[in-house]
Amino acid sequence: MILDISRILKSPGDSMDFNGLVSLGDDVFVNEHIVNVSEITVEGKVKNISGVIVLEATGKFSYSVPCDRCGEQTDRSLVFDLTESFVKQADESLQDAVVLEGDTIDLRDITEREAFANLPLKNLCREDCKGLCLKCGANLNNSPCECKDDEWNPQFESLKGLIFD
Ligand SMILES: [Zn+2]
Ligand SMILES: [Zn+2]
Repeated sequence: MILDISRILKSPGDSMDFNGLVSLGDDVFVNEHIVNVSEITVEGKVKNISGVIVLEATGKFSYSVPCDRCGEQTDRSLVFDLTESFVKQADESLQDAVVLEGDTIDLRDITEREAFANLPLKNLCREDCKGLCLKCGANLNNSPCECKDDEWNPQFESLKGLIFD
């Protein structure tokens, strides 16, 4: 998504609203998972504050990621804030500001960066996901498996090894 800011670039005090879609296309690898994100909706405002272009926006997107406990693909959504400053020329006092190339802002990279920085580290299909049985691998959310509790107790496993080896 390319934002044309030529209208406010030369007039301090001016601002403009914008909204649009940032397309990412490919799957991205985040937090050891493949995360499928196709599009991020971005909505916000750019202001010319004494020659510095300040962008404040909100990004929203849906994605799917495997549950950390049971591995089931889970649909989630995320809303995040996007803030960035832009200057026409490099400025020592504004080292965090991005130097503009021409009179447009390409929102793709900053949106992608902020979106993934805000992805949660933990992903559960539901708060009380029961996960997989350590013994047989069954998804315990669907139904209890045949394994008895003592059969997958790790302490019991090591004991059994001592006896039968
Ligand atoms: Zn789960
Ligand atoms: Zn089991």
